[in-house]
Amino acid sequence: MTQQTIEFKAEVAKVLDIVIHSLYSNAEIFLRELISNASDACDKLRYALLLHPELAADAGTFQITLTPDKKQNILTVTDNGIGMDRDDLINHLGTIARSGSAEFLKSLSGDKQKDMALIGQFGVGFYASFMVAEKVVVRTKKAGSDKGWKWESTGLGSFTIEEDDKAPHGTAITLYLKKDMSEYTDPLRLRHLVRQYSDHISLPIILENNGTKETINSASALWTRNKTDITNEQYKDFYQSVSHAFDAPWMTLHYKAEGTITYTGLLFIPTKPPFNLFQPDRQSNLQLYVNRVFISDNLPDVMPHFLRFVTGVIDTNDLPLNVSREMLQKTPVMSKIKNGLIHRILSELKKRADKPDDYKTFWDSFGIVFKEGLYEPIEQRADVADLCRFYTLNESGLISFSDYVAHMKPGQKNIYYITGSDLETLRHHPQLEGFAARGIDVLLLTDPIDEFWVQTYSDYQGKKIVSALHAREDLKEVKPTGDTLEKPLEKELADETLARFKDVLGTQVKDVRLTDRLTKSPIALITAEGQMSLNLERLMKAHGQQTAFSSERIAEINPTHPLIHKLASLIHDKKESDKVADSIHVLFDQALIAEGEPIKDPAAFTRRLSDFMMSGL
Ligand code: ADP
Ligand code: MG
Repeated sequence: MTQQTIEFKAEVAKVLDIVIHSLYSNAEIFLRELISNASDACDKLRYALLLHPELAADAGTFQITLTPDKKQNILTVTDNGIGMDRDDLINHLGTIARSGSAEFLKSLSGDKQKDMALIGQFGVGFYASFMVAEKVVVRTKKAGSDKGWKWESTGLGSFTIEEDDKAPHGTAITLYLKKDMSEYTDPLRLRHLVRQYSDHISLPIILENNGTKETINSASALWTRNKTDITNEQYKDFYQSVSHAFDAPWMTLHYKAEGTITYTGLLFIPTKPPFNLFQPDRQSNLQLYVNRVFISDNLPDVMPHFLRFVTGVIDTNDLPLNVSREMLQKTPVMSKIKNGLIHRILSELKKRADKPDDYKTFWDSFGIVFKEGLYEPIEQRADVADLCRFYTLNESGLISFSDYVAHMKPGQKNIYYITGSDLETLRHHPQLEGFAARGIDVLLLTDPIDEFWVQTYSDYQGKKIVSALHAREDLKEVKPTGDTLEKPLEKELADETLARFKDVLGTQVKDVRLTDRLTKSPIALITAEGQMSLNLERLMKAHGQQTAFSSERIAEINPTHPLIHKLASLIHDKKESDKVADSIHVLFDQALIAEGEPIKDPAAFTRRLSDFMMSGL
């Protein structure tokens, strides 16, 4: 077959355009990407051999070779892994198969400077070669096939493919380096980069220089080494390469479990949240090895969802090498490992939780995910609850459930919370005035997830977790400190006032009633108990989910507020009827504004307010 020219798919062309023209300062990561692909290719062949022993004829001792050529300004990366056939070349090196590249594409802003920085964040796999090379040639032959291929491209628009009888089994990628990238033919530089990024690769990486060959990595799987022989730097590099991350791990957990199941775990919690933490289908970045042979990095259900930010490796001898996906899902070995992982991670977190500043770093990045553990069906829910942290009305820093319980007021029965979109608004929420006056603390919950766990996680150590908006008993039990404004309205006056409010507000509210929860504000809104909170309703709307029924509003009146007293006496004496009605409208609209809700008739609101200002001035 003769040479064929094939256009890159549009999205590849777009990625390449940025990669080629990038002045990204970390161009060196291309080497890590190529070595990682070479290592994957060897793992794939090793795995294929288990099922097809006849392929052994095409395999040798697995290794990766770097061959720099200073004179011609060329670097070749060779492996004797699985290799690629014609379809593989077209499908894998001509489309966006890799999720990192797809994410990269989605995140492009059009601003070259910003987009370049994203290369580092997402990693663009094989395409990273074009940061340093003006031409890339891939010669490859797939195991089990006798036909070799040559793929060639400058990264501009298209690539060519032709048969190549001389290609050996495996893959050789030759980079014709850009003029200013000649550093990548320097043996010292290559050695340094391999140490930095690829030392943990479990195959020998060989530097071939003027006919001499030298292994330049440690070539032993990092997790099999003794903890005392591993430096922090090595852990960090390993973390970065398994997690495709660029930060340092916040937590490194390296252990050997010996019991009914034996496995080694090398687990990491990142410092910063990865970009795809909230993709619905995101699996944790955990790799499974069986006896050092890579099996999968997309394990269903090994890590519970609320720990999906944990990355790393587990290696066990208690599974057969040819374990299938279905089997992984069913085998009791995996569920035992899963339980062991949860247990280890939670107990390690417990140790770190004693240092609040340190723990805050974790909580800021992953608390929002971790809280999902409060409603996931796991045995360790109580441990999860102990590790959760909250901002509250009374405290400036984060506190735990047990801190909260320790500071409950004498006579206080429940743990109170309020949900909303930001801390400052919640701190000044009218519904919390009564709590503040009594010194009762309230959890301020601002993550969307909070709306959900509070519905299923209903008590902590026997204390009920109750919405502050529906608190009744404790506000009666615990007496407010400081001055209340006036004596509560007499029963008769109160009844007349409530009736008038209902009459004026009509269908805008389901009910009007008195409350103990307000001390400064005359009025506030809530939804009926058991109905969606106003905050949840706003969240659903923001996500384009029009709720067919919005919850019914209830206006709550502060019977100790002077303004309410004034209105009550006007109502009782049947005076200034129009002004009273206007006041009730304005009060209600103010309550809406305090909640961040739109008011029905802004024009009427402004007119009434201006009238009051005129009469006041
Ligand atoms: P990723 O490694 O995340 O899949 P890459 O862009 O790095 O993405 O590589 C794309 C695909 O190209 C790989 O998944 C693999 O199928 C193929 N590939 C790349 N390099 C090699 C290689 N050295 N040997 C065999 N296949 C390779
Ligand atoms: Mg890759």
